[in-house]
Amino acid sequence: MFQDITPLLLDPKAFKDTVDLFVERYKGKNISIVAGIEARGFIFGPPIALAIGAKFVPLRKPKKLPGKVISQEYILEYGRDCLEMHVGGVEHGERALVVDDLIATGGTLCAAMDLLGRVGAEIVECACVIELPELKGRERLNGKPLYVLIECF
Ligand code: IMP
Repeated sequence: MFQDITPLLLDPKAFKDTVDLFVERYKGKNISIVAGIEARGFIFGPPIALAIGAKFVPLRKPKKLPGKVISQEYILEYGRDCLEMHVGGVEHGERALVVDDLIATGGTLCAAMDLLGRVGAEIVECACVIELPELKGRERLNGKPLYVLIECF
């Protein structure tokens, strides 16, 4: 069953409270990059980045970013997908937070962390609004911490 976050966006207080929970957790943690995953990581990532004083780095589906990119393929339940990131936006040693709306199998977050790791960023944590724990995505994150607001069974 598809978990839809768009009703949350229709409630300004609930949307703000959601962003504020992440901001409270990550402010003052010396995070200079918030990397958001297309498409719904683009909804939650930028307000978090602005509030904690970090830059926002979009991780996009193939052929969407205009500049020079690095790519990371990953396995889906049925087939493959790919994320891309501009080169040059991330410096070695920068501390990064990865943001998406939801973790299912964890493949997407893994690909995002791989991209950032390849350019020398340090992953502080992954943050999602929703986790589907039955799909055990957390176990695929190679020990990197994951923070979620809601578990859906
Ligand atoms: P994963 O790679 O299997 O963890 O899938 C997570 C990615 O797929 C995220 O980018 C989500 O936005 C998207 N996704 C998968 N299932 C859902 C869902 O039920 N609701 C919203 N997004 C989903």
